[in-house]
Order: sequence, then structure tokens, then C-alpha cells
Amino acid sequence: MSPAHPASPFDGWLTGDPEVLALLGDEAERQSTTLQLIASENFTSPAVLAASGSILTNKYAEGYPGRRYYGGNQVVDRIEDLARDRLTALFGAEHANVQPHAGATANLAAYQALLDPGDTVLAMRLDHGGHLTHGSPASITSKVWRFVSYGVSAATDDPDKPGEIIDFDQVADVARRERPKLVVAGSTAYARIIDPLPFREIADSVGARFLFDAAHPAGLIAGGAHPSPVGVADVVTFTTHKTLRGPRGGAILCTAELAKAVDAAVFPGLQGGPLEHVVAAKAVAFAEAARPEFAAYAAQVVANARALADALATEGFRLVSGGTENHQVLVDLRSFDADLTGKEAQEVLDRAGITCNRNTVPDDPRSPFVTSGLRLGSAAQTTTGMGEAEMTRIGGLIGRTLRGRSDDAVLASVRAEVRELCAGFPPYPTLAGA
Ligand SMILES: *Cc1c(COP(=O)(O)O)cnc(C)c1O
Repeated sequence: MSPAHPASPFDGWLTGDPEVLALLGDEAERQSTTLQLIASENFTSPAVLAASGSILTNKYAEGYPGRRYYGGNQVVDRIEDLARDRLTALFGAEHANVQPHAGATANLAAYQALLDPGDTVLAMRLDHGGHLTHGSPASITSKVWRFVSYGVSAATDDPDKPGEIIDFDQVADVARRERPKLVVAGSTAYARIIDPLPFREIADSVGARFLFDAAHPAGLIAGGAHPSPVGVADVVTFTTHKTLRGPRGGAILCTAELAKAVDAAVFPGLQGGPLEHVVAAKAVAFAEAARPEFAAYAAQVVANARALADALATEGFRLVSGGTENHQVLVDLRSFDADLTGKEAQEVLDRAGITCNRNTVPDDPRSPFVTSGLRLGSAAQTTTGMGEAEMTRIGGLIGRTLRGRSDDAVLASVRAEVRELCAGFPPYPTLAGA
């Protein structure tokens, strides 16, 4: 009997390992019957799943196409060339490296290509939305390079100018004072468009290089919903699994001038053998992202986030920066309920079948482990076909869950409604058994 929620095109090949098969089935059930609102997640296509589950995992291919350290790479070379060609075409870039195992690795390689140990880097404050690899004390990045930071402007009561957007005066001031060798734009929790042009001007004014970390908006950029940093920044890093909807991994785009340094920084600088099965899956995803349907998807992701934001505002939640222009909604829980922490909200929503993550809000008085906020994202559920009507309904469900958080009957009724909603939008309707 085929499972109700298949986990991959190859479920049938796992019957010899019933333990792993059962766990994959449990996870497929979770992904299919609960709402996936984690802003960094998505559902890949079955074609991406198939390529990443392929026999290419068997092949060692240290080096680059035409320059490998192992034999037998005639076919793998063509696969990696295809991925690179599709990626440079997708973004209009001069050079692409598709080998980084993750977004964090892509950033480490970019730093290594552009900097010497001890050099100063200007990036976004972690507690205002910057990523761990932008100089967190817990990250190797802060041990090798000297990070200084900029943040967002203060919140205001003016609905037309809500604040909490990148403060370019501050970026310019810190750049003038600290003379960084590299300016980094990009964020992990920021609901606004990041315009690369002012960063370029500031970087130029102090003779710094400019790295745009597009881990989150890469798919919105590919789909034309956000301005492209390619041609503006010296190097663009990104993940392939967030809004770009590919396999879990990273990639780097750069100018022809930096191609050699970037490639050497990825291998042998940082990694050993590339994951060519993932490179093949990236190639599949890059072709998917070049189709007109993907531009429609990117526009719908943004429209859906806006619908979710509006619904949450109606429920009495304050939104960081007053709203959204991308796939993210950052919720400040304090106006809704001063006692409700991000940690508790995340746990209660999980019990109701609504999956999201707690997040600090700018200048959060609570610790990053507790937080006063939630980060929500529209990218994954938009892939399943949900539209603004469903997002509005989800906003209402979030309000109901958090208002009734101490009442098990409320949580059970939301859980049932979520299950019914998800049944109409299966993530993998074309896989056998679905
Ligand atoms: C997600 C993210 C990364 C890291 O990606 P991983 O694949 O998790 O390593 C880097 N930078 C930013 C801004 C991100 O949001």
C-alpha cells in the first residue's frame, strides 16, 4: 500500500529499511498536514527531489569542470557546466560557483576571496536581522575578521513612516569611521526590499568591496519581484533552498575579475568534493526559476505575505517596519499581549499545526532564545497554491491560537481547521500515493 503522504519519488526503494521509511513517512505527514510558515523554507519540485536523490551522490569531483582531481568526470563536468550556465543566464551574471554546500559556506568563501584575516567588515547587526555569518560572536566569521555593524532606524508611531528600515545615514557614518574593506548587505529577518544601490555608493565612498547576501530574496530577485544586486555588488551569495525553491545549498555570483579568487576560495579553500547530486538539483531549480510561472510565483509570494501581514494587523499584532515588501512578516508580540514571548508563541502555534519561528524584534529586551517576536514567511505555502484568501484565514487562525493559548479546546479546533486547510493544498500532489 502506498503511503498517504509520500516523502520522495523513491519511497518504494526504501522498503528494505522500514525504520527510515517510517520516519520519512512521519515527516511527509507533518509537512502535508501542518502549515509551513518558516520564512527560510519552501517545497522543491518533484524534479528537484529526484535529481538530489540521484546516483550523482556516488561521484567524487574535486575541482571544476575540465580541471578535476579525479577521473570519470566527463558527465559530471557537463552537469556542473549546465548548472553554472543556467545560473549566470538566470541572473545575468558574469561568473557562477554552484558548489557551496550552504549559504553559510558561500559567505565564508566570499569573505575568503575578498579579505585577509583581521580585515574590517561592515554588516547588519544580528539583533536587527543580520545573519550569524555576518559576525556573530558565536560564528567563526567574528574570529577571523573584524565586524562592525549598522542597524535599522527607530520605530515611530507614524503609520506613514513606521521606521525600522535600514538606516543608510548610519551605514555611511560607520563606513566613514571604520573604513571597512567590505560592506555586506542582506538579512535573515527583514521584511523590506533591500536596495543594493545605496550600499554600492557607500562602499565606493570608502574604497570597499560590496557583498550582497541574497539568501532570502534570491527567488524574488530571479522572479523579478525585487531589484537585482547582480551588476551592482562585486559578489552575490545566496541559498538555493529559500525563496529560490531549489535543493538545500548555496551559490555565488561574481564579476569575471573575481572568478578565480571565488572559485579558489570555495575549493580548495573551504570545501572538498562538491555534492554533484545537489548541483544537478540546482540546475533543475535554476531552469524552473527562469520560467514565466516562476515570476508569477514570486509576485504571489509578495502578495501573500502582504495579505498575511494585513490579517495579523487586524488581529492586533504590531508588525516590525509596519508591513512587508517581501516574503517575510515580522511580528512584535508585545502590543498583542505583553506577557507572550516568541518562544511560547512558537510552541503554542506548533501544537495548533502552524509552524514558524520565534525571532528577536529590533532592540528586543528579551534574549535571542526567548524573544518578543515571530518571523513568518509565505514562500512555502504559496508553492502549494495558497493565495491571499488562505493567508487571510491563516492570520485569523494565528490570532485565535495565541488568544486561546491556555485552552486546549481552542488549540484542538485550530489544529483540525489547519488539517482541513492543508488537505486542499498538498505539497506533492503528483508523487505516487499523494
Ligand atoms: C539562511 C541564511 C544564510 C545561511 O544559509 P544556510 O544554508 O543555512 O547556511 C546566510 N545568510 C543569510 C542572510 C541567511 O538568511
